[in-house]
Amino acid sequence: MWLVALLLVPVESARAQPRNLDIYWVDVEGGAATLMVSPSGESLLVDSGWEVDGRDAKRIFAAAQQAGLKKIDYFILSHFHADHAGGLQALAKLIPIGRCFDRGDFIEPANQRWRDAYLSVCASKRTILNAGDKIPLKGLQVDVVASNGRLIAKPLKGGGPNSLGATAENKPADVPENQLMVGALFTYGRFRFLDLADLDWEKEMELACPVNRLGEVTIWQTGRHGALDGAGAPGFLYAIRPQVVVVNNGPRKGLGGPSPGSQKAA
Ligand SMILES: [Zn+2]
Repeated sequence: MWLVALLLVPVESARAQPRNLDIYWVDVEGGAATLMVSPSGESLLVDSGWEVDGRDAKRIFAAAQQAGLKKIDYFILSHFHADHAGGLQALAKLIPIGRCFDRGDFIEPANQRWRDAYLSVCASKRTILNAGDKIPLKGLQVDVVASNGRLIAKPLKGGGPNSLGATAENKPADVPENQLMVGALFTYGRFRFLDLADLDWEKEMELACPVNRLGEVTIWQTGRHGALDGAGAPGFLYAIRPQVVVVNNGPRKGLGGPSPGSQKAA
């Protein structure tokens, strides 16, 4: 009997500890992999970095271990490019992945490889997201604000008219994959974290002008890894007014530069 009591104590004391929302930006050298652990203990990973012989999968797994996770409950693949989908197959061999979410079935031939890689892990447990959907992560509100080229129609709380769109610079649409991706807003109390992955300049402007559909955010993970030619439209940034900006970049990628060994649109 005493043994049972002994075993229960750590569990009970762990439950008594108040938990925070933890966000891990895993260094995947110009790709993207963002791991969130909600105060409920449930976890969500957005994107899986590059393939590179399992390098990024190992880094994500190390972050998951640091977070004490035995499983990643939810995985969102923002879009089918090498720097976001590349690590998934190796990661799934290191840690179980619960449910998967993606933008849908349209694919350009050049990206078919990454769709196949995603489906090899997620085909039996995937959900296709629409703008306006919520992901049922306990303890964190997850609003899907963009998916498959569509955006939320009504502004979220804090959104409203944005007059900057009248004069702010816009750009032509980028390659389809960079227009179609899943973008999400994560809300925990007053804290709001926006991850639009590589959503292009033109779609950013559509989200922000003439109506700012997002409101202001606390943290913005830069679009296109900080490649400010293809994302980071001023008309959008002055609408969302991030307090903190996180750039997941590598030594030779971002800020307008090419990424080594990748397709130019990554
Ligand atoms: Zn990318």
